[in-house]
Amino acid sequence: MWALITGASSGIGAEFTEQLARDGYDIILVARDHVRLQERARLLQEKYGVQSEVIAADLATRDGIRKVEDRLEKGGVEFLVNNAGFGINKRFADSDIERESENLQVLVGAVMRLSHAALPYMRAQKKGYIINVSSVAGWIAGGTYSASKSWVTVFSEYLSVDLAADGIHVTALAPGFTHTEFHQRGKMNMSGLPQWLWLNSDRVVAEGIAAVRRGAALSIPGRQYRVLYLLIRHLPRAFVRKVGIGVRRRQRR
Ligand code: NAP
Repeated sequence: MWALITGASSGIGAEFTEQLARDGYDIILVARDHVRLQERARLLQEKYGVQSEVIAADLATRDGIRKVEDRLEKGGVEFLVNNAGFGINKRFADSDIERESENLQVLVGAVMRLSHAALPYMRAQKKGYIINVSSVAGWIAGGTYSASKSWVTVFSEYLSVDLAADGIHVTALAPGFTHTEFHQRGKMNMSGLPQWLWLNSDRVVAEGIAAVRRGAALSIPGRQYRVLYLLIRHLPRAFVRKVGIGVRRRQRR
């Protein structure tokens, strides 16, 4: 049985390929960096004896998304992880609008289209798992990234309820700050962040997989972030907005 993971070349996505291969899944790896994907595919084959396929695709483009949709429509994919993503460390007013559109396409457009393409096979099998990697950023108003992640969470919560009778489990995985290449790629200054807020991707991924297996709509790895979630839901929204924008401004320094 196959699992397809987007953003499989590094960070959280690479960790998903590792843990799902260990669980016995054959793995389809998707990202832009073909060389890194091939190397990872070879490692998985060596370590776990699983089959693998590599799809080099830019999910900011219609053609890139189409390639992955085509593979999903062929069938056989029981486990889909929509994980690819990146951040833009600029105020919206100063940001390049083409870059913003690419970001929306990767974080939202690809998640919507790939979920849709995966469903006919999963419904026919009456079994399937979808994890959409969201973020705690979706709880605050920290720019377009927050808005996109908020969409991912609500979309996944909806699917989780709507598809339960079809035997399909859908989970929004909302990590907090996690050690990956994300902040370095986005040129974010993380120097002031307290150590207790950092997570490791092995834990994030293990909690996400356990959550989707038991049919949870939302997975928030780490006790510190579960407490934060409760606080954010009960604090006045004006206060949450103020703190949220403060966090984003600090990353731009
Ligand atoms: P990462 O190490 O930078 O990995 C990002 C992955 O996405 C890479 O495999 C990258 O591969 C792929 N990607 C980026 N743009 C792409 C595009 N246009 N088309 C196809 N693939 C693309 O970061 P990460 O932290 O693991 O991020 C994974 C997910 O977790 C993202 O959705 C992110 O928003 C979310 N998240 C991260 C954190 C955190 O603190 N790290 C917290 C909350 C949520 P290529 O460069 O090879 O294309």
